[in-house]
Amino acid sequence: MSAIAMRELTKVYPNGVRALDALDLEIADGEFFALLGPSGCGKTTLLRTIAGLEVASAGSVLIGERTVTNLPPGKRDVAMVFQDYALYPHMTVQENIAYPLRIRKVDRRSRAAKAADTANELGLSALLERRPGQLSGGQQQRVALARAMACHPQVFLLDEPLSNLDARLRLEARTFLKRLQRELGVTTVFVTHDQAEALALADRIAVMEGGRIRQVGTPTEVFRRPANTFVAGFIGSTPMNLVDAEVHDGELAVAGTRLPMPQDADDRVTDGEKLVYGIRPEYLDYSPEPVPGALSGQVVVVENLGSFSLVSLDVPTGDAVMDGAGDAVGVAGTSLQVVVPEGREPEPGDTGWVVP
Ligand code: ADP
Ligand code: MG
Repeated sequence: MSAIAMRELTKVYPNGVRALDALDLEIADGEFFALLGPSGCGKTTLLRTIAGLEVASAGSVLIGERTVTNLPPGKRDVAMVFQDYALYPHMTVQENIAYPLRIRKVDRRSRAAKAADTANELGLSALLERRPGQLSGGQQQRVALARAMACHPQVFLLDEPLSNLDARLRLEARTFLKRLQRELGVTTVFVTHDQAEALALADRIAVMEGGRIRQVGTPTEVFRRPANTFVAGFIGSTPMNLVDAEVHDGELAVAGTRLPMPQDADDRVTDGEKLVYGIRPEYLDYSPEPVPGALSGQVVVVENLGSFSLVSLDVPTGDAVMDGAGDAVGVAGTSLQVVVPEGREPEPGDTGWVVP
């Protein structure tokens, strides 16, 4: 087990793409840590640079007390599970699991014993003689995990370990992975583009964008107190509403109404300041009747999500929209989304009230 630290870590690929941009990050010993971000933000590059499969262009990587920036992968004491598992198709499960031990010149008998032990821990004992082609996706994933575990590395690096599983199996595998990490207590960094997976699994999450880290925190911190609009928009099962607002006499002027300042608002906000007000669709109520202080608008889209619907409304903000000649041609508006329980959904075209 080991902590990991990255200092001003930069990776520029030969084609000029700056995949990591002077990135600083510390991961604690034994932590289950998620790297979360949209496709192309540099998650895989960061994982491969920790593993030593990519050479850093600048900056450093520390594992435990050791600077490993220029060490080859085999000297870093890490194990990586790839997104496509990268099992050897011509080897049996037992040979796949034992392969890293063979590379480390462990003798045949110890290899077999260790592979059997690890297979047992992951419920693979009955499959040792099969080849990867004869396994389900979930079983292949466990073999890849077993192969990573067999050497008892200090650090596990998992690249989108669940993304190739179908939806139901993914939930099962998620629970399994969390239990396994708790039992082993090994520092684990896992990459995902799925915010729900990161929230469910991780002790802490780093949200990445464009080779940089936009926020690091516990699932509760990044969900409750996103540091910027990028994180606010990325975390949550439904996108957060982000509306322009202005501070007046300790209240927020938002879309033609006044709202009390949120209790956890930054205490540095000053009167007259323009800011972005963020509120999640699940913390808003919908009313088909007028409610004092509520924002009225027109229902545009109703999306049925099972036990609730996500309702989108166009809410006028009150400002006139001018054309080039300075004539008013309409009223500016903003779009708000609100979660409405099953059975109370409005119809598109209805007028409704959004209650903060
Ligand atoms: P993620 O895993 O978050 O989707 P990647 O780390 O794979 O992101 O990629 C980050 C950026 O680096 C992307 O713009 C990608 O196109 C680029 N990139 C990744 N690998 C290479 C490579 N081997 N050569 C050149 N560019 C690459
Ligand atoms: Mg990737």
